[in-house]
Amino acid sequence: MEEDVPSRVGSHDSGHGIPETRMVVDNVDSSAVIPPADPQILTPMLGQRFKTERDAYNFYNVYAVSKGFGIRLDKDHMNTKKQRTMRQICCSHQGRNPKTKKPSVRIGCPAMMKINMSGAGSGWSVTKVVSAHNHPMKKSVGVTKNYQSHNQIDEGTRGIIEEMVDSSMSLTNMYGMLSGMHGGPSMVPFTRKAMDRVAYAIRRDESSDDMQKTLDVLKDLQKRSKNFFYSIQVDEACRVKNIFWSHAVSRLNFEHFGDVITFDTTYKTNKYNMPFAPFVGVNNHFQSTFFGCALLREETEESFTWLFNTFKECMNGKVPIGILTDNCPSMAAAIRTVFPNTIHRVCKSHVLKKAKEFMGNIYSKCHTFKKAFHKVLTQTLTEEEFVAAWHKLIRDYNLEKSVYLRHIWDIRRKWAFVYFSHRFFAGMTTTQRSESANHVFKMFVSPSSSMNGFVKRYDRFFNEKLQKEDSEEFQTSNDKVEIKTRSPIEIHASQVYTRAVFQLFSEELTDSISYMVKPGEDESTVQVVRMNSQESFLRKEYQVSCDLEREEFSCVCKMFEHKGILCSHILRVLVQYGLSRIPERYILKRWTKDARDTIPPHLHGYKDDVDASQSRSYIHVMLKRKTVEVAKIANKDVQTFKMAMTVMNKLLEDMKNQLSLDDGDNSREAPKRAARHKSRSTVLTKDGNEDVGGGDEDSEYDVPSEDEGGNLTADILPPLKKRSRGRPKVNRYKSGGEVASLKRRKEVGIEKKNTTNECESVEEENQVIDHDDEVPFPPIDSLSRRVNDIIYAESPHILNPPVENDKWK
Ligand SMILES: [Zn+2]
Ligand SMILES: [Zn+2]
Repeated sequence: MEEDVPSRVGSHDSGHGIPETRMVVDNVDSSAVIPPADPQILTPMLGQRFKTERDAYNFYNVYAVSKGFGIRLDKDHMNTKKQRTMRQICCSHQGRNPKTKKPSVRIGCPAMMKINMSGAGSGWSVTKVVSAHNHPMKKSVGVTKNYQSHNQIDEGTRGIIEEMVDSSMSLTNMYGMLSGMHGGPSMVPFTRKAMDRVAYAIRRDESSDDMQKTLDVLKDLQKRSKNFFYSIQVDEACRVKNIFWSHAVSRLNFEHFGDVITFDTTYKTNKYNMPFAPFVGVNNHFQSTFFGCALLREETEESFTWLFNTFKECMNGKVPIGILTDNCPSMAAAIRTVFPNTIHRVCKSHVLKKAKEFMGNIYSKCHTFKKAFHKVLTQTLTEEEFVAAWHKLIRDYNLEKSVYLRHIWDIRRKWAFVYFSHRFFAGMTTTQRSESANHVFKMFVSPSSSMNGFVKRYDRFFNEKLQKEDSEEFQTSNDKVEIKTRSPIEIHASQVYTRAVFQLFSEELTDSISYMVKPGEDESTVQVVRMNSQESFLRKEYQVSCDLEREEFSCVCKMFEHKGILCSHILRVLVQYGLSRIPERYILKRWTKDARDTIPPHLHGYKDDVDASQSRSYIHVMLKRKTVEVAKIANKDVQTFKMAMTVMNKLLEDMKNQLSLDDGDNSREAPKRAARHKSRSTVLTKDGNEDVGGGDEDSEYDVPSEDEGGNLTADILPPLKKRSRGRPKVNRYKSGGEVASLKRRKEVGIEKKNTTNECESVEEENQVIDHDDEVPFPPIDSLSRRVNDIIYAESPHILNPPVENDKWK
């Protein structure tokens, strides 16, 4: 629609307080005869030439805004070959509307400009100009721009609006930003309404043909980086079931930091209500890092099996040592099938968050119980301790009959710390990293987002995340860290660890000062005892077994095993025995500055991809900077403006020619090939038995090859939209277990509240506040309702392009 609207151009006026030097003209042919430095520069003159009809329209429109009137297309003339040879462009107030007796804007104003084709291919020239009007001119640009011809948004600005829509910016902020770019709200050459209209149209446009656009986005990402991986599973009706994708840099990072991942499917952030399922890990800067993400239609065992198998394939068969998830039985079953040797752990907070609700008064009102309960969970270090403390607690508070406690006791091996203390989880005990990621991601994507919009915004989000990782990598290589104790062991740590990990180490070392070492029960153990502890609930003694000869140490707290960083207790022993360096075996490469240094040969291509994409983004920044600089200077006077337009028009033409030469026929075929080419790791799988559980790999088949016929990609349909009233919820998606518990809660008659407050008592950092983010657009449903309202109620033409528009063709 809007694309075909004659480009609206800027403002030029000498009489309304707008200096001539602020002239912004878009799309005006530089070959047009414009006498340089003439104060009447924008006045139409007989014989003036234009390359195209549209250029003439644009020119007359600029003149109109500077005078204070609006224009529209009027009569034309076609020759026998159906080519237009004459066109009149008139004042909006020209003519009369015979159909209506109501007051009309058409009051018979004679002002107009007539152009005739000068001859085949040689452009248009002005053959008649009437400059007198029968009505007063509008007094300011602000008023004038309400004429429909001025209330159009040019392609360049449309591009900017598109970018802003992509960043989920609110309409108010968008207009504010455009005002800033034009030098104030009164200088914006179009109204807020016009901008809203374009923004809505962009959104609506994004939602149409969603699947093809999603595929295009994915293909484009792969075109830019050949090791970008994506996979789509469809059902027998060719509707999308699940999508998974991962960037080359994620695949590379998985090699370095893929030992543990957290995975949960708790947020639905798109119009299909498909849960967003990111695979999140921890990098050497203790930051969350994304290994890939998926949109799932159903949370069935079959779906998860497909997803985990796809993930494994994407990561060249490498699997994580540990995976931390929310408490979902079908997910657990799929993990057992696909990652049989991976330690699966359920997020502690997901299990414990029901405590308040099921234990009622004793949990919320009895402070001593709550304290004792948490002591059992956090201060016990061995299974024996945990079991004994648990039973004592049950006895002390007469809770033998508590169904809830019985249930979480039965599943204790899935979540309780003591069963995982000796397993490496990079210090994680909850899925909080995934949840934080979701909170941040929510700021990038609106709940009514289409699938292609979702994938695009994820890409933006992902790139911002990468920038943070790069900046930390830079800082760690550049900055000196503060060494607190000046002990040789701390200096050694500062040399090997990244800033963030050194920080953690340094805290442990500082903490170690409050301990003393006592002889243990035998020669190979020592007791590390907390000195004058005020806090009664803290543990006082830690047993450390040590073999000085072999430099082997092990503490009952198992912090090294769990987090990969030595605990204060072992550090106390190391200092006691005068060790000046951290023994080699206690430095995990994944926490060091060199964590990313070794890249196995099969991943070298990924590294090249990452480098290429980084240099591309650098090029993008450079180009933007240059363009802004050109616009700034060209805006200063007519000469520089003309110079810039001439060069830029030529440049654009040359670049377009260059691109079409480069692409030739390949460009249109390339994406198709990419989708079919399995060796490029683009596997578009199709699954015939939707209702069969178990996710058998054999039931999937690749996209048919060319001779089998059919471009499958073109036939993929979006998943059916699960409709809900009003604004789609961003609330946490509830797993099967949780739904059951909610149902039960309803039966018991407990009021629903506080269900989204996950993982509150967590020890991880990266606490991200859940912003109650502004929703930049109404959901599509209400949007189309509004749009209809606008079309049929408010104004008969507002959404349609100007009537003249059709005549351009
Ligand atoms: Zn007029
Ligand atoms: Zn310890």
